[in-house]
This record gives sequence, C-alpha cells and structure tokens, in this order.
Amino acid sequence: MDIIIYILVFIFGIVIGSFLNVCIYRIPKGKTVVAGRSFCMSCNKTLSWYDLIPIISFISIGGKCRYCKAKLSLQYPLIEATNGLLYVLVFYIYGWQTSMIVLINIIYCLSISLLIVVSLIDHRTFTIPGGLTKTLLVLAMIGLIIRYFGIERTNALLLDHVIGLFAVSSFLAIIFYVTGGRGIGGGDVKLMAGAGLLLGWKLVILSFILGAIFASVIHILKMRLMNADRTLAFGPYLSAGIIVSLLFGNSIINWYILYILQL
Ligand SMILES: [Zn+2]
Repeated sequence: MDIIIYILVFIFGIVIGSFLNVCIYRIPKGKTVVAGRSFCMSCNKTLSWYDLIPIISFISIGGKCRYCKAKLSLQYPLIEATNGLLYVLVFYIYGWQTSMIVLINIIYCLSISLLIVVSLIDHRTFTIPGGLTKTLLVLAMIGLIIRYFGIERTNALLLDHVIGLFAVSSFLAIIFYVTGGRGIGGGDVKLMAGAGLLLGWKLVILSFILGAIFASVIHILKMRLMNADRTLAFGPYLSAGIIVSLLFGNSIINWYILYILQL
C-alpha cells in the first residue's frame, strides 16, 4: 500500500508546486501571495478552477491559454512536477513510521519548496527576499523543536543544530563584510544560517561544498558555451546543495568516510 502514500504525497506536492509558481511571480513584485485570482499574462482573463489543476490543465489545453492561445511557460508544470517528485523522495528516504517522522518530513518538504522559490527568484532578480530566509529559519526552528521533544531529547542534538546555524553563515558573513557585499550576497549568508539550523553542522558544510561545486561547474560551462556574463546568482546553487544534502547527505558522508578516507 506504499504506492497510495506516494501518490497522495505527490498530489500534495504538485498542489503546493502550483502555489510556488504564484510565489515566484508575485513575491519580487511585492504583491500578496494569499489573495487574488490567477490570470493569463497575455489576455488578462481570470482563470477558472479547471485551468489551475496542476500539470493536468497544462497538458489538457496543450500548453496554451484556453482563451487567447498564448503559449504558457513550461516552467509551471516543471516546477509542479519537480516539487511533487522531491516530496515523494523525502518520504521514500525518511519513511513514515511515526507521526514525528511525518512531521519532520513535512518540515523538510516545505523547506525544499521554499528553496525552489529562492532559486528562481535569485536567478531572475539577483536577490533573495528576506521574508523567505526568515521563513526558512522559522521552519528550521519548528523542525528542531519537534525533533528534540519527539525523537531525540539530547543536548548533542541542540548543539549540532546551533553550531550548524553559525558553521557556514559566519564564514560567509566574514566574506560579506571583507568584500563589501561583492564576494557574496547578504541573502546567501542568511540562507545558509537557516539551512544550518535545519540540517546541523555536518550537512550544512556539505551543502556549501556541493553548492560551490555546482556553481563552478555550471558557471564555467555557461561562460564557455554561451558567453554568459560573470554575474553569478549563488542562491540556486546553494539551494541545490542544501536539497541534495537534505536528501542524500548522510549517505554521502558515510560513503566518503568508508571509501575516500581509506585510499
Ligand atoms: Zn490568455
């Protein structure tokens, strides 16, 4: 019956995913994300509920607006599907044996969604809205409280996550002040503080290393192939590092200790 759980989690993920599309479009414009109907950006027609079913609407209307036939961005169904698949991965990896594990999974899922929004907004605008990094901190705090009272009531747990809060962020904060904000953005510093409180110090250091690797590889490719300029939004790469670390970090660290350190 596992498959039913995965299907439900996936549906939940794509529904939240369609809300993420609204956030990505509205947050940089300073608009509210909780009120107001969605509308077609070409003909301004207000969309009905049957235009807004994640993925299915997009496929059934052939990726075009039902009214003016303007092409809809492939970004919408891609974000929905990605969010749904990542939710399924969280439940596949961490299971759902106890209600506490399910609660932690929900915190992980919402954090991943938030990182998707951070990535797309930073990629487009070169800024990470402060409201998003604050929300990540709040999610991380709730996650730690659930874990402390529900799973593992130890000082070691608290220490692990509080050190995580400072582990990468204080290092980045120094770069921020030394370079006058040119080496790294203030948003990146806050992002890694939230990620550290969420994941603990080992996994946040791994997130940063992965993010730096992703950024260098992809940025070098982009500059070679497309003559892209040198401006680099670090947020999407850091976010990818955090998500990979959240999902596979413990396996990566164990693999590293087992194999690499014995070479
Ligand atoms: Zn239209």
